[in-house]
Amino acid sequence: TDIQELLLSRIRDVADYPEPGVMFKDITPLLADPAAFTALTDALAAIAESTGATKVVGLEARGFILGAPVSLRAGLGFIPVRKAGKLPGATLRQAYDLEYGSAEIEVHAEDLTSGDRVLIVDDVLATGGTAEAAIHLIQRAGAEVCGLAVLMELGFLGARARLEPALAGAPLEALLQV
Ligand code: 5GP
Repeated sequence: TDIQELLLSRIRDVADYPEPGVMFKDITPLLADPAAFTALTDALAAIAESTGATKVVGLEARGFILGAPVSLRAGLGFIPVRKAGKLPGATLRQAYDLEYGSAEIEVHAEDLTSGDRVLIVDDVLATGGTAEAAIHLIQRAGAEVCGLAVLMELGFLGARARLEPALAGAPLEALLQV
């Protein structure tokens, strides 16, 4: 579609970042273009509305940049899922494996309630490890994940199959596929 072409034209490929052999998808040109950023926000907000979300969760750090305007556009609250050690209040914490080592993410436990339906928003879905941990975190907080929406899915890394059990039928919506 025209919107997909616009979004794709504003994503820059950066070779060998952050390490040799990786082609990094840089979304900063898209953020710098208000027409593209608005189109992206509107498309993600439409997903929030169609899934019946009551909250938007953004994943640090680019998921904050995309998720915050999406939440306002859809009339919903925004909740940050942060890397461990950044949130001041009582948190739930979830560990997950990286290629080398592991990482932990956290959410403020009191920001999610058992009635909430959460749309998770991030920029790029790569291996799916971060999103999988976020799904478990939200579910442990007692809320329901009603969907995962990303700008771009790197399909060759197999995240869609990996996330199927955790998503339990909730949709994975990617505006662009690579
Ligand atoms: P995953 O856990 O799916 O392997 O990695 C996803 C996380 O890493 C996301 O939060 C995403 O922002 C970041 N990420 C991984 N690869 C890329 C990339 O090529 N471009 C961008 N912008 N982010 C990436």
